Amino acid sequence: MTTARTTEHLPFGEKRDPRFFGRDILSVSQFDRSDLDTIFAVAHEMRGMVERIGTFDLLKGKVLTNLFYEPSTRTSSSFVAAIERLGGSVIQINNVTYSSVSKGESLPDTIKTLESYSDAIVIRHPEKGSAAEAAAAAAKPVINAGDGPGEHPTQALLDAFTILEEMGTLDGLTVTMLGDLKYGRTVHSLAKLLTLFDVKINYVSPEILKMPAELVAEVGAAGITQLETPDLDAVLPNTDILYVTRIQKERFENVDEYDQVKDSYVITAETMTRAKEQMAVLHPLPRVGEIAREVDDDPRAAYFRQMEYGMYVRMALLALVLGRA
Ligand code: ASP
Repeated sequence: MTTARTTEHLPFGEKRDPRFFGRDILSVSQFDRSDLDTIFAVAHEMRGMVERIGTFDLLKGKVLTNLFYEPSTRTSSSFVAAIERLGGSVIQINNVTYSSVSKGESLPDTIKTLESYSDAIVIRHPEKGSAAEAAAAAAKPVINAGDGPGEHPTQALLDAFTILEEMGTLDGLTVTMLGDLKYGRTVHSLAKLLTLFDVKINYVSPEILKMPAELVAEVGAAGITQLETPDLDAVLPNTDILYVTRIQKERFENVDEYDQVKDSYVITAETMTRAKEQMAVLHPLPRVGEIAREVDDDPRAAYFRQMEYGMYVRMALLALVLGRA
């Protein structure tokens, strides 16, 4: 990470907000409410620009590295779309078996190599703490795109932006998180981020996939009312945001345990009849059966719109971190 440089004699088009310029994005805990107001305002602006003109040259000349040690469809391609819509370009490393990593290169060495070619690095890695390790090795900004079961801060930002665009506000809402709350890094980041708002949070999961106790304690210490239950029906009628997650097979050490819980919750059209008329269903995707496809046509199903909002949020983050927003 670099520290913010002087704002004098900036090249044409550069606008450096010291809260973002040159900084890493590793955890949602680094943001306060005014940071979020800025990110969401810029993301909203990006939405308007994409709708009006599609691609524009805000980040012309900037190069992003997308370093993915774990599979990704949306996060990886939305960062590609984000930098390209802003006129920049991307070094895409998706399959590390084709790189020196498979020869045993350390993460810091790989990062030092890639930062010599690019202006920022997006990293997804199976180990918790890996993004912080990469950031410690890098002079350029590092963006955490998922560190194992740790955090996924850009996903939480896009989740919150989705709620804002869909509902007009986050304050006063009841958010129900459903599914794999133990390994789901998206719910870990989102629960932390929601402490900046006036919300209530319900956690609905099988017993073995409960939200980690230390996270519940952290969110509770911030003054958020939380409820843990295995029973979706107990909380569904009062839910404004239903945040569904996939049971993450790849994180289980014991496949029998996965088989026991994999079909614990399935949202169907019938489930939706018991929910509020004004509600939004979010899902970080991919889904593997926890939301029936019949729900897709329900206007409350926001998970495909959520992907699009994700591109606007990632455009905003890149522009802010690279000093052009
Ligand atoms: N796409 C999300 C993530 O990378 C959720 C998931 O994989 O289930 O964490």
